[in-house]
Amino acid sequence: MGIAGSVTNYKAKYMAKSVKFPEAAARLFDRVFICMKCGAKIKADNIKVRDKKVKCRKCKSRQLRGIHKDKKA
Ligand SMILES: [Zn+2]
Repeated sequence: MGIAGSVTNYKAKYMAKSVKFPEAAARLFDRVFICMKCGAKIKADNIKVRDKKVKCRKCKSRQLRGIHKDKKA
């Protein structure tokens, strides 16, 4: 009973880890935005971009879009 319990626990931990990994990668890309006018990459917080507090360093535009990396796994 003790062994079975620890194996289940290990499995749950392992699965939680493998789920967390792509999520962390997605979060990294979430924080990079691209200016829709000049295409410059801007690193900023999601919340700040949503609140339009971030503007492009090159052209001062507030029109930013997030990076969507195509992943074919
Ligand atoms: Zn720009």
